[in-house]
Amino acid sequence: MERLQKVIAQAGVTSRRKAETLIEEGRVTVNGKMVTELGTKVDPHNDKVEVNGVPIDKEEPVYYLLYKPQGVLSSVEDHLDRRVVTDLIESEKRIYPVGRLDYDTSGLILLTNDGEFANVLMHPKYRIQKTYIAKIRGIPSRQNLKLLERGIKLEDGKTAPARVKLVKANNQKGTAIVEITIHEGKNRQVRRMMEAIGHPVEKLKREQYGFLTLRGLNAGEFRELKPHEVKKLR
Ligand code: URA
Repeated sequence: MERLQKVIAQAGVTSRRKAETLIEEGRVTVNGKMVTELGTKVDPHNDKVEVNGVPIDKEEPVYYLLYKPQGVLSSVEDHLDRRVVTDLIESEKRIYPVGRLDYDTSGLILLTNDGEFANVLMHPKYRIQKTYIAKIRGIPSRQNLKLLERGIKLEDGKTAPARVKLVKANNQKGTAIVEITIHEGKNRQVRRMMEAIGHPVEKLKREQYGFLTLRGLNAGEFRELKPHEVKKLR
């Protein structure tokens, strides 16, 4: 017997957290009966679990790479009706983003309906390297960039060592472009790291996620991952 939210997430319907919400909202039935209690145990092989009236083992897994524009939320719905990443991909499947990018951050984000795959990628153990290009206010000193490379204290702990490169300094405008590669996913991590050295981020883009890049895509465009890419990420 397994917890209901785990069974739903493992079937690739959604993340475990979202599955809990679906259960609480009364959108899940087990053998035809609505279940709203979190932690209800079910037999994944014999009990018939449905979400919004659709059996959970019905969907083929799909994997997308999206170039998220600025001003789009990394979620599947928004109570304020702002644009969300799933608005940009026409899919009948119940896809959702793997991790998140801030509303104002653009760049590479994966979407899938494969909960197991998403859980693996988001697990800190896998240390997927993510590369960001940040336009920052001011021109950072070598010492300051070293602080980021070694790891810097934020209010929720010290960051792991990062790779940092000053790409361009614009002395006239007093801004710089910095490339930074991290494997952690603390909330607003790059913005907070830059703030911690006194150089707030003006613009942020995720250019790379593991071996995946945005090559060939413009903001708002997406493509399906190739089977060998999915395999390599697992
Ligand atoms: N770091 C941030 O500050 N924002 C993001 O969206 C991603 C990483």
